[in-house]
Amino acid sequence: MKRIAVLTSGGDAPGMNAAIRAVVRTAKYHDIEVYGVERGYAGLIEGDMRLLSRHDVSDTIQRGGTILRTARSTEFTTEEGREKAAEQLSAKGIEGLVVIGGDGSFRGANAFYHECGIKTVGVPGTIDNDLGYTDRTIGFDTAVNTALAAINNLRDTMSSHDRVVIVEVMGRHCGAIALHAGLAGGAEVILVPERKVDYDEIAEVLDRGEAVGKRSGIVVLAEGAAPLAEVERELKARTSLSFRTTVLGYIQRGGSPTMEDRVLASRLGIRAVELLKDDVGGVVVGVRGGKVVDLPIEEALAIPVRFEAELYEEAKILSL
Ligand code: ADP
Repeated sequence: MKRIAVLTSGGDAPGMNAAIRAVVRTAKYHDIEVYGVERGYAGLIEGDMRLLSRHDVSDTIQRGGTILRTARSTEFTTEEGREKAAEQLSAKGIEGLVVIGGDGSFRGANAFYHECGIKTVGVPGTIDNDLGYTDRTIGFDTAVNTALAAINNLRDTMSSHDRVVIVEVMGRHCGAIALHAGLAGGAEVILVPERKVDYDEIAEVLDRGEAVGKRSGIVVLAEGAAPLAEVERELKARTSLSFRTTVLGYIQRGGSPTMEDRVLASRLGIRAVELLKDDVGGVVVGVRGGKVVDLPIEEALAIPVRFEAELYEEAKILSL
């Protein structure tokens, strides 16, 4: 394969630029031309793409977001939309496509491969760490560290005022950010969508702290576990503590990627191009036990997201 394209799709994640950079540099190394597609599948359908040089990805490894921008496209979920996208690639003699995104983007990449014959390779870029086939997704480590920095700041002010903060972090279906940031931030309580929220149990944990003179604390809430207002109301009704709430929101999506995310993105970007060089498509790349792996998209998406139950129990031990 002599000509490929790369795009970022779905929610942005820190480290996507490091992955784009790795794709471009590895392709150059193997004498393959790379087109950068703007705004994901939406830009692909419109043919919004340009040839990238080594220089285009200079000074990007440390930048959050995505230099190619990202978008969601309803048109690409239709066969006609994918047909249009395939025509745009064929017109330029492009045979392979690296898709940096989450599970939705991978479903699109899979349909594109099977229907239109475009060799697609998925690179996991999402802060949620919600893909079962890979131990880590690009952006997760940075998002956790951003949430952790915020929790550290909240702890200072909460302990000065004897207040308990309920801090909402991202995670609609997956509590990985809450779990890791909560454990590392010394949270008293961590609420995740994978476990039922038991307000009596939470109140008991907070009361136990109060009994030994501790009137401040941190409750980390993954957005999908329960509505923030409900958590505040139910805990106020059960304890005499003073509560404050903070929603971290989009702050968690930005920022310079951590070393972990840059290294992961670089390694996965390299493997993606090597697969295309060997004419392999319809696959995703990831990391398992420290090793870079690749497997068919369908197989990868059929692997359920693993909740780190042991880590959750360990966090509970430490908060007692
Ligand atoms: P993420 O990749 O972060 O999970 P989305 O779920 O929004 O983000 O998916 C990104 C894009 O991928 C969508 O806007 C759509 O164009 C495409 N996509 C998602 N699901 C499918 C699907 N089942 N078939 C085809 N394309 C899809």
